[in-house]
Amino acid sequence: MQTSVIGYPRIGVNRELKFASERYFRGEGSKEQLLQEAARLRLTHWQVQKQHGITYIPSNDFSLYDGVLDTACLLNIIPARYRDLGLDSLETYYAMARGYQGKRGDVKALAMKKWYNTNYHYLVPELEEGVEIRLAGTKPFDEFLEAKQQGIRTKPVLPGAFTMLKLIKYSGGKQAADYAADMAEVYKEILARFEALGAEWVQFDEPELVRDLTAEEIELLCDLYGKILSAKGRVKVLLQTYFGDVRDVYQALLGLPCDGIGLDFVEGAENINLIHQYGWAQDKILFAGIVSGKNIWRNRYRESLDLIAELNRWVPHEQMVLSTSCSLLHVPYTVRHEQQLGEEVCRHLAFAEEKLAELTELAGLAAGLKEIEDAAELPEAYVRNEALFAEGNRAAPNPAVRAKTASLTAADFVRLPAASERAEIQRARFKLPLLPTTTIGSFPQTAEVRKNRTAYRKGRISEEQYRRFNQEKIAACIALQEELGLDVLVHGEYERNDMVEYFGECLDGFLFTEQGWVQSYGTRCVKPPIIWGDVSRARPITVEYAVYAKGLTNKPVKGMLTGPVTILNWSFPREDLPASEMAYQIALAIREEVLDLEAHGIEIIQIDEAALREKLPLRRSDWHCEYLDWAIPAFRLVHSGVKPETQIHTHMCYSEFADILQEIEAMDADVISFEASRSDLALIDVLQETGFQTAVGPGVYDIHSPRIPGVDELKEAILRMAEKLPAEKLWVNPDCGLKTRNEAEVRGSLQHMVQAAREVRKLL
Ligand code: GLN
Ligand code: ZN
Repeated sequence: MQTSVIGYPRIGVNRELKFASERYFRGEGSKEQLLQEAARLRLTHWQVQKQHGITYIPSNDFSLYDGVLDTACLLNIIPARYRDLGLDSLETYYAMARGYQGKRGDVKALAMKKWYNTNYHYLVPELEEGVEIRLAGTKPFDEFLEAKQQGIRTKPVLPGAFTMLKLIKYSGGKQAADYAADMAEVYKEILARFEALGAEWVQFDEPELVRDLTAEEIELLCDLYGKILSAKGRVKVLLQTYFGDVRDVYQALLGLPCDGIGLDFVEGAENINLIHQYGWAQDKILFAGIVSGKNIWRNRYRESLDLIAELNRWVPHEQMVLSTSCSLLHVPYTVRHEQQLGEEVCRHLAFAEEKLAELTELAGLAAGLKEIEDAAELPEAYVRNEALFAEGNRAAPNPAVRAKTASLTAADFVRLPAASERAEIQRARFKLPLLPTTTIGSFPQTAEVRKNRTAYRKGRISEEQYRRFNQEKIAACIALQEELGLDVLVHGEYERNDMVEYFGECLDGFLFTEQGWVQSYGTRCVKPPIIWGDVSRARPITVEYAVYAKGLTNKPVKGMLTGPVTILNWSFPREDLPASEMAYQIALAIREEVLDLEAHGIEIIQIDEAALREKLPLRRSDWHCEYLDWAIPAFRLVHSGVKPETQIHTHMCYSEFADILQEIEAMDADVISFEASRSDLALIDVLQETGFQTAVGPGVYDIHSPRIPGVDELKEAILRMAEKLPAEKLWVNPDCGLKTRNEAEVRGSLQHMVQAAREVRKLL
């Protein structure tokens, strides 16, 4: 059986792409050096897939920043404000990705959104009226040829025309359907080019097909592909879906003249039923996504082989290719470099490279197992895999934790008194000015901050030295915030490498990798912890630094915690427990920390739920039963035990929650801050229309960009908010933590923000 990989990680085992890009951004590395490093990474990734015997190796899955942005540029979808800077194509690309501030102008970056239900972010292409969609680049062809020259025939990959049309933001009056004909033309041209270059297959990624689709959308899809595939020559076209099932378009897909359809059998459990119900098409290859591209656990061969056998009832072996369930972008590179986890743990793990081995092994087994009649003849790979799963529970259950979650009652999820009453009590307590200013928590994680942490980890400095350094940073941070005139201060999060990993380290039940980096956006990577056993608080997490910071100022200091849903969503979860059980276990652990902070005199506590929206199921019918019904209660459980006068904040990255405002209100926080600047404060209108009650701090500027916003621009943003929402319920803050910015950028931006808030106060 043949094998296919949908996409491969690109940042490099040692994050080489990140470091090369950052050197280039700082002006320390040349463009040539950057591009050379990128080419080296591509080759390495192709080679490792080839060595593992993968049949269909992707190309053009590589990106210097983001694949959707690459495709927007390829299709000429570049707003005038970037074009007008008159930069070369690479610099224009980075201006769209990161914003530009320099001799030629001052423009913000494009909006950034989470990629479906993952923690990867893509840049939202923006199509202006009058911009013509046409083939304006050569990246996919160049990379195909680059691989070919190295003796590797690849399967070029691009986001499909339908998904692109759905992801684009239309700033003119037109809509997706108005561009269908132009889009189809370009994709036809792309296919023709690949045909001329000798490609056998081209993969169009269409994750948009796993969402709920209307009749018009299905019509658009059929219309598009009818056109794109009408003049197709020998080159074969794979329509690749992932992250769910294609229930709304399955029959339509079978009717399209494409050569292959990729279905996800890991997240799209319903796909198998569709095949049962409607059968398969004679003329198509099924790319069966069976090896998970999202989890980090070993594939259970017995189950996969059963699934393949089941599929074989409709799809013969020759018509089936074994595939990953989605791009491997969402998992780290390899378990090989993990020195500290130990063999007992590592043998249960499969990152990208190990998944390549699994694909080949499974394909071999699938081909061979048919003939085996006697269990004694079972292939070694199969026997080894079964033995691994027979080990049973990796970590013994913790009876105390299980007893706690089992005995939760409705009252544990309710904070009293009601929010409106608390608001009065808190107003009297804190006496904050109108439009109080604050930040989201972290201050710059400078090289010296990271150096201090590394030195401590490697045993080069004592714990005492390590803590003293952090205290000095906190003191400087508090002094800076006082100098800038912020109203509610933070300690700066210098002790944290990452908002989830740091918490995981203080909780029992979590494991950590050394090299398990996964790209989050552009050059930013995260290292998600692994939930291995039952979770409980091993020791106080933030109390010491919060109390230290509080002792340095008369202003309120906000305690800073990560919430249970985010910890769960940004970890690799177990597969032997329901998500609700894991969420409640984590919630009880964080609840202990909340009560501990309160007992130590911390009056305001922020519980970040940065990732709450991100795992919202892609289909509306699953929203409540599969997610919100435990996610919102998990958050409530964390803070329901605090006193009325303790102010609970939460922070959410990403503002796309217009459709779950009721649920967000039901989290029952006192204040919510969220990302808004990069989506044009669009949520404000919805908050106004729905009469949202909780106080809000919509981010007034974008921290993902190095750009320093001007006072007037900030004033305008605040005024726009104040026009729509009651001023006494508004906070002024950046749209996320400042850890990725440098000190000069932070000082400049916050100074402008405080000044803007002061000037607006006078106007109200
Ligand atoms: N408190 C965190 C910080 O400021 C929140 C980060 C986030 O929302 N991603 O860094
Ligand atoms: Zn955030």
